[in-house]
Amino acid sequence: DSGLMWFRRDLRVIDNAALCLALAACRQLHCVFVFDRDILDTLPRADRRVEFIRASLCELDVALGQLSGKAGVGLIVRHAVASEEIVTLAKTLQVQAVFAAHDYEPQALARDARVRGALAHVGIVLHTCKDHVIFENREILSKTGTPYGVFTPYKNTWLATVTPQHLRHHDATPVAQALVPRPEGLQQPVPTLAAIGFEKTNLSQLKIPTGASGGARLFEDFFERMDSYHETRDLPAVKGPSYLGVHLRFGTVSVRQLAATALQRQIQGSRGAAVWLGELIWRDFYFSILANFPHVAQGAFKPEYDAIKWEHGKHADSLFQAWCEGRTGYPLVDAAMAQINQTGYMHNRLRMVAGSFLVKDLGIDWRWGEKYFARHLNDFDLAANNGGWQWVSSSGCDAQPYFRIFNPVTQSEKFDADGKFIRRYLPQLARLPSKVIHAPWTAQALELQMEGVTLGQNYPAPIVAHAAARALTLQRYAVVKKHQ
Ligand code: FAD
Repeated sequence: DSGLMWFRRDLRVIDNAALCLALAACRQLHCVFVFDRDILDTLPRADRRVEFIRASLCELDVALGQLSGKAGVGLIVRHAVASEEIVTLAKTLQVQAVFAAHDYEPQALARDARVRGALAHVGIVLHTCKDHVIFENREILSKTGTPYGVFTPYKNTWLATVTPQHLRHHDATPVAQALVPRPEGLQQPVPTLAAIGFEKTNLSQLKIPTGASGGARLFEDFFERMDSYHETRDLPAVKGPSYLGVHLRFGTVSVRQLAATALQRQIQGSRGAAVWLGELIWRDFYFSILANFPHVAQGAFKPEYDAIKWEHGKHADSLFQAWCEGRTGYPLVDAAMAQINQTGYMHNRLRMVAGSFLVKDLGIDWRWGEKYFARHLNDFDLAANNGGWQWVSSSGCDAQPYFRIFNPVTQSEKFDADGKFIRRYLPQLARLPSKVIHAPWTAQALELQMEGVTLGQNYPAPIVAHAAARALTLQRYAVVKKHQ
């Protein structure tokens, strides 16, 4: 039998569940990736993620050849509407089945349903399997058989359920002989960025390593730091987290491999590993929330939060613009926004601080922030991003209670005490002493000027006063209580 392996967000050959399933099921297997015009056409012309994917495909192409040991084996790469192209290609190649890993985003589910239907029409089967998470949808349920809406019991059940079998490595080597050379007419190399209508970004200057080799390198590096993760992860100026988000997003690392390593280390007594494994469980949790409560993609997890009246009109637009461009006058928030704008990454602590500031200091609808992050984060994932924003706005499962409002200055003093992160991203404030860098407006104008800062000129005065904004937010959220 012959088949077609459709790579999507699993751009690796190592420990790839769908690839192994396909290889084991077929005597002849072709591999394809489609730059999906349905997605690409909506993006700005310079997008680090497209560049990341392209570089990772070049590596995947070579890895498939090496895995097979045969000349001419590689990845067929197309630039088209995926839901149509896969059907066309499956017919051209005369395969009996198409294989892919599950993708849980609503648009992807709709696409896969279309493909499944169109393929079935011509007698071809679409086989999909789990690869992207350890447990999906309804695998972790409460005793009454319902999905969890709160993290801690979910996590406890996750930990009680997981076995080595769930984290098993899928080895493609013994079945790799099924890979066949690309047929004539489909042997083109991976297209250049320009060929798919995109421009180069600063991805290589940022030294973000791409492909499975990049993911492996980052994980090796993080492994050395894993034991201290619980102490360093909240400090944005410190190299604490793994930076693996983008690799998890595009499947250039296997989440099973990460979880297996962390679990083993946790069993050996590592506190850092336990906390980090907890983050991977948050990731599974949000995928299951999106699958079981799909309304979160549009509105609040807790519907009573949809009654909140957010700021709107010109004033709201200008506050939002200031936030996007890092001109709020709150240094930690502005440095965080500079980080996402310049690099496509934002430290987790800062996602919470900047997010909270947008929603609870500026009174802007969390969905505006969600959309902005979706466009700019290299590791953007609908499930985690939505979960994060709903947490920040208190509307989500297991969210921050609404009356707990981050103070952007206190957060700054606590997590960036020396202002090291602020100085890195806001060089105009670099000379300010640590005692004023978190809230420059509290210093004398002369003191600021001596260090090269003039508020309103080379750094903005605060666009809102936190205490007043806090009071307004509590009023705004009072409507929630009425609906409860
Ligand atoms: P590490 O600290 O090394 O964590 C390892 C991995 O665990 C991450 O790569 C990620 O896959 C997962 N993870 C960690 N924290 C969370 C979490 N709270 N929820 C779900 N998964 C988590 N994460 C995304 O992957 N994509 C997003 O679009 C995203 N948007 C967010 C928006 C907001 C407002 C907030 C508060 C958080 C968001 N997160 C998102 C979660 C978290 O901030 C990032 O996963 C993390 O900062 C990525 O950096 P890292 O790979 O160095 O993380």
